Amino acid sequence: MENLIGDIGVLEATEAKSCDAPGLLPDQNTGKSRKLYIESYGCQMNFSDSEIVASILQKAGFDTTSDIHQADVVFLNTCSIREKAEQTVRNRLHHIQGLKKQNPTMLVGLLGCMAERLKTRLLEEERIVDLIAGPDAYRDLPQLLSQVDEGNRVVNTFLSREETYADISPVRLNSNGVTAFVSIMRGCDNMCSFCVVPFTRGRERSRDPHSIVAEAKDLFEKGYREVTLLGQNVDSYRWSEEENNKAWIEKKEIHQVFTFAQLLERVALVSPDLRVRFSTSHPKDITDDVLHTMARFENICKHIHLPAQSGNSRILDRMNRGYTRGWYLEKIQKIRSLLGDACGISSDMIAGFCSETEEEHRDTLSLMELVEFDFSYMFIYSERPGTLAAKKFANDVPLTIKKRRLDEIIRKQNELSLRRNVRDVGQVHKVLIEGDSKRSPEHLQGRNSANKVVIFPRKNKSKGEYVCVRVEECTGATLLGKIVE
Ligand code: SAM
Ligand code: SF4
Repeated sequence: MENLIGDIGVLEATEAKSCDAPGLLPDQNTGKSRKLYIESYGCQMNFSDSEIVASILQKAGFDTTSDIHQADVVFLNTCSIREKAEQTVRNRLHHIQGLKKQNPTMLVGLLGCMAERLKTRLLEEERIVDLIAGPDAYRDLPQLLSQVDEGNRVVNTFLSREETYADISPVRLNSNGVTAFVSIMRGCDNMCSFCVVPFTRGRERSRDPHSIVAEAKDLFEKGYREVTLLGQNVDSYRWSEEENNKAWIEKKEIHQVFTFAQLLERVALVSPDLRVRFSTSHPKDITDDVLHTMARFENICKHIHLPAQSGNSRILDRMNRGYTRGWYLEKIQKIRSLLGDACGISSDMIAGFCSETEEEHRDTLSLMELVEFDFSYMFIYSERPGTLAAKKFANDVPLTIKKRRLDEIIRKQNELSLRRNVRDVGQVHKVLIEGDSKRSPEHLQGRNSANKVVIFPRKNKSKGEYVCVRVEECTGATLLGKIVE
């Protein structure tokens, strides 16, 4: 499940299951004159963006390194989603300050959401930083670095109306060679009241479907067997020859648009042996067309990440999510009727949003119980400056209560994950092998269509192959079984 999506690397121990190490780009030795080191924080979009940055800088004379001591340029690709995420980056900068004393020519840049949110303020507050670049400014990095080489401190946080980096093939450096993320859109127009993303990543733009299908084909030819189509809200993917910006498509009343359901079908047609996943879906936007397309193609995985955030309609309204508890539950029924009980459904949940009462919190627990989520990312509400909630509502649920509610949400999710996994015992699952199990060298691991991790003795199989596994036991996080012929 670590591979799902998500806020990895920046969560409190109590917040969610995640990996702790910030994503690194490993070593590349093609004889370039300078070394680039990048740490990525936050959501999978940032990890994807770091691969685009590596591709842009490769052409400008850089190889990547996973050893910060070897680096000529250090970039932190940052996240602003919760206060803790920003604090993690600031602590890291203080550590890097010590390294810069040993290596004074090393340049330090901040990329991503925190760069976009704080702009020049970061140069004033963090004296060690030489360069600030927002998520739409990566093409400008070679030029910005040459200005830094001349002794300047530089900032580019321009947000673009149409940038999607469609023509840049990401350098796939930190990959298992089997699964890859493909970014299909950028930005978000939703304005959920708690969320900083619309301010840091700009307006919604969809990437040219031809370039997406070409990237999926290229990955398949290179041996990859799974692509995850990535966006903050994939269901509002809209593309036309004339416009790729959703707001402008609506303003210009363009009716001939290419939708997410159509894109999903085109990618699924690349090969029946290429699995297709996508994330994140928004409950108000996911269409029956998408569900029917999922049902038609065996290789579109039966898993939907459909963040509910809360189970109470008043809180959902305050969150500006655009749906009610009833609407969410109807969507779940539709998913179950079209895709069956085995379809994995996961969520994000926020504990202690502004003015949330005990009863409203219990609505979240009861919604979880009704849906039986396979997995959730779970967070304490963190007020973000500039968001609608920060402007309009008091952040009035005391931290101790938020923590206790989060604890209850986590306990409920653990119970549900185990309950859902127990149902898989005795069943045979088609599994794509992703590599060795962390458990032991005699075991392999992969995922089933519903995105559950499956571990089994390796026999003579290797990564990239599909196998059928009969599940014999489970924990809340993993299915364990044996290959059946
Ligand atoms: N676009 C996705 C969606 O709408 O579901 C999610 C994107 S956001 C990067 C990932 C998750 O972070 C959200 O679903 C939400 O649960 C959580 N999140 C966002 N802002 C937050 C905040 N201010 N405090 C706590 N959690 C937050
Ligand atoms: Fe944030 Fe809402 Fe957009 Fe997700 S849909 S990125 S939570 S504003």
